[in-house]
Amino acid sequence: MQRFSGKGVYGAVAVGAAKVLRRQQTSVNRIHIDDPERELQRVKTAKEKATAQLIEIYKKALEEVGEDHAQIFEIHMMMLDDEDYTESIENIIKTQLVNAEYAVSVTSDEFSKMFRSMDDAYMQERSADVRDISNRLIACLSGADSNSLHADEKVIICADDLSPSETVTLDKSKVLAFVTAFGSSNSHTAILARSLNIPAVINAGEEFLNAVKEGDRLIVDGHTGELIIDPDEQTSDHYLEIQKRDEHRKALLGQLKGKPDITKDGREIKVYANIGGTDEIDAVLANDAGGIGLFRSEFLYLANDTSPTEEQQLAAYKKVLERMKDKKVIIRTLDIGADKQVDHLGLEKEDNPALGLRAIRLCLKRPEIFITQLRALYRASVYGKLGIMFPMITSVSEVEKCLAACEQAKKELKAEGIAYSEDVELGIMIETPAAAMISDRLAPMVDFFSVGTNDLTQYTLACDRQNAKLEEFVDTHHEAVLRLIEMSAQNAHKHGAWIGICGELAADTTLTEKFLAMGIDELSVSAPFVLVLRDTIRKTDLST
Ligand code: PEP
Ligand code: MG
Repeated sequence: MQRFSGKGVYGAVAVGAAKVLRRQQTSVNRIHIDDPERELQRVKTAKEKATAQLIEIYKKALEEVGEDHAQIFEIHMMMLDDEDYTESIENIIKTQLVNAEYAVSVTSDEFSKMFRSMDDAYMQERSADVRDISNRLIACLSGADSNSLHADEKVIICADDLSPSETVTLDKSKVLAFVTAFGSSNSHTAILARSLNIPAVINAGEEFLNAVKEGDRLIVDGHTGELIIDPDEQTSDHYLEIQKRDEHRKALLGQLKGKPDITKDGREIKVYANIGGTDEIDAVLANDAGGIGLFRSEFLYLANDTSPTEEQQLAAYKKVLERMKDKKVIIRTLDIGADKQVDHLGLEKEDNPALGLRAIRLCLKRPEIFITQLRALYRASVYGKLGIMFPMITSVSEVEKCLAACEQAKKELKAEGIAYSEDVELGIMIETPAAAMISDRLAPMVDFFSVGTNDLTQYTLACDRQNAKLEEFVDTHHEAVLRLIEMSAQNAHKHGAWIGICGELAADTTLTEKFLAMGIDELSVSAPFVLVLRDTIRKTDLST
């Protein structure tokens, strides 16, 4: 039995087998072999495995982001089956008597170079695809299994770190828990784990990753961040007991379903849920949230190799609005950059991405992206009760530009005879100290504010939210952050706007009373926290 500890990001216990994903294992050694037939057979088996993975990914992509985006995985399957590609691998094994991994790696280099040198832009793009399928094949050969998940049973994912897009492509129905060696509690992987109701421990350290082996029995305690490899019977029993207690608590909270979010002294609060994709709507409904306070639309961009088209976005927004029926759905416009990077937007590398061309700045610089999204949003608005929210606002002029872009999108739709609703609420995120400080100027321009405490904390305390080493310096209850929230609440109400909180702090029940006393009208949290929050609100008495 070995004990390690990291930071628990979702309070629940998982007990199960470890599945180790090591991203850095793609470097390949050249090894002389005596039995080429065996290597050829290994390639054949690995190809079958890789194809099976791609079929699964294709199906998932089809469900989550539509046919256009899913097509790339069909192309990957075709490339994997390409005669020239296969022949090259086989020839290298037979003529040079080398291991299969090496033959794939050399073929990958040659083919991607060949594609890159072609004139046709479409063919040039295939260069990255060859590398991608080759990495997948090498991972299958080496048993590293790429970073996609194939398991008959639910497993505990142990990885160095997971990018948001990797987290999206993991089959969450097979995940008992996430453990990452690095990462911070406000990373999007951690946020996703919370919203999916999956126990997660981050920042467990490299020693943990070196110690844990594929298939090891593992206990993950998302309450305390404790990790136990190969537990003895007594320890196992102890944690199974905690697991039972959690289940019991969950059942108790179930009794709060359908009850109003109202304090003892009769103040009604909106309790909404945050989502990062349409696959989380079930959890929102199951947890009886009053609406969606934050739909992080960037996950549509992160899950694919190309930007989602207007039609694809419309399909996703329409789905969430229709499923939420008459409940409010607030969709945040693209918040990419900083910790969320995608190759297909061609963003330049920045020294300080958190302070760089991210979120609304990128959208204002790239109107083709922004207007496409706004058109999709307005087209979807006829299917439910939509709110649109702009991230990372720092100035009045940015809000003016956002409002003008909305007008342009509507004007275009009108000219094309496409229906949209005029009843769409427009709001901004308060997640920079600048926005909070000038909230008196911003409030008259919008219908609502939503405080993004993750970024507001990062920018107020000058602590990179991605930097795990700074956890000890991040006082999430820092007076400066709380004062900025209070100031924003006062200014919102003075000018007839409502104010919510959608950052992670909204779920911190030790602050609920304080937030309500400040006048916060809405709290938006990961779906599993909705009923916990309802319980707290119903026990709060603001009159005492
Ligand atoms: C926030 O910053 O608090 C927020 C909700 O946005 P995100 O975490 O997606 O940056
Ligand atoms: Mg933010």
